[in-house]
Amino acid sequence: QSTTVTSGWDFAVELRSDPASAEARSAILAKPAFGQSFTDHMVVANWTDDRGWHDPKVTAFAPLSVSPAAAVLHYTQEIFEGLKAYRHADGSVWAFRPDRNATRFLQSAERLALPQVPEDAFISALRALVTVDEAWVPSAEHGETSLYLRPYMIATEAALSVRPAREVLFGVIASPAGPYFDTGPKPVSIWLTTSTIRATPGGTGAAKCGGNYAASLAGLAEAVANGCEQVAFVDAAEHKWLEEIGSMNMFFVYADGRIATPELNGSILEGVTRASVLELAADLGHKVEERRISADEWKDGVRTGEITEVFASGTAAVITPIGRLAWPDGDLTIGDHSIDHGVGPVTKSIRTTLLDLQYGRTPDTRGWLT
Ligand code: PMP
Repeated sequence: QSTTVTSGWDFAVELRSDPASAEARSAILAKPAFGQSFTDHMVVANWTDDRGWHDPKVTAFAPLSVSPAAAVLHYTQEIFEGLKAYRHADGSVWAFRPDRNATRFLQSAERLALPQVPEDAFISALRALVTVDEAWVPSAEHGETSLYLRPYMIATEAALSVRPAREVLFGVIASPAGPYFDTGPKPVSIWLTTSTIRATPGGTGAAKCGGNYAASLAGLAEAVANGCEQVAFVDAAEHKWLEEIGSMNMFFVYADGRIATPELNGSILEGVTRASVLELAADLGHKVEERRISADEWKDGVRTGEITEVFASGTAAVITPIGRLAWPDGDLTIGDHSIDHGVGPVTKSIRTTLLDLQYGRTPDTRGWLT
């Protein structure tokens, strides 16, 4: 397991005088709902174009005060990240590949004309918050639990001109997260939309910025209106090539043992889970492919039996099996739902391999844990 990073920003710590009681905290940790409860503290740091980054601190979790004219509220000059810290059986707490999130945050910042948070500063911010709020990291006795960490950066300058803001806030908040599936993984249903496009060539699809998520909601609403839980998006130019499922990357398992995922094309977000799955699947003996995959290949592959499993990957739910694909004039069931609740063996083995690593049940030979 990788060594402790001690460089980065120097955080002032202002402990709150009214933290949650141990009883209140335990009640939340026993059944955390994703993204609903937050720890006692948060990180904030400010940036101005004349001073650069200054005043990094850990302080009480509380509403921010921003002007109604703050650029973020009008032009969504904003980026964020999402990763988890896991408590291992020995009580220690580990973040999974935070350097990848730091790098993606730098790339997103560049695309949104926001200032750069150096990798060591980004990781020191996570460390500062998790250290102060360590009691909020659920223990393994509650199953697949973790502390979800949400770094973000917003343009706070009160100015309505359309230009990169000269005042910016970086922050981190943390939220205890429970098992995504209460009773083990269950296949979800996907609506294939060709009318709503999430991202365009040259646009912001490869950046983790709020606007992308706002732009995806109409597609999700269309999926729900059609009786599905999640939405699959295709490319903007030909409305043909698969890109992402909601806020997850997608994978196809073939009868011959191959595993394929859409190749990065500038409008797909490069998931940390995606990169990890590609590496772990290769280790498990699968031939892995990153290439263009059409919606027709998905439909035909399921019909002929060439595609045996489909799953989505992302930090929140780790690996989500896909059990059904629907579109305006069709509907397909994927996999054998009479076995293992429809969770295919390859999906299951990759999911277990990843979780075992994250929870320290297998050795971290790659230095993925910090
Ligand atoms: N695609 C999108 C659009 C996402 O928001 C996410 C979640 N960050 C992912 C894919 C998966 O990324 P990761 O594995 O890093 O969570």
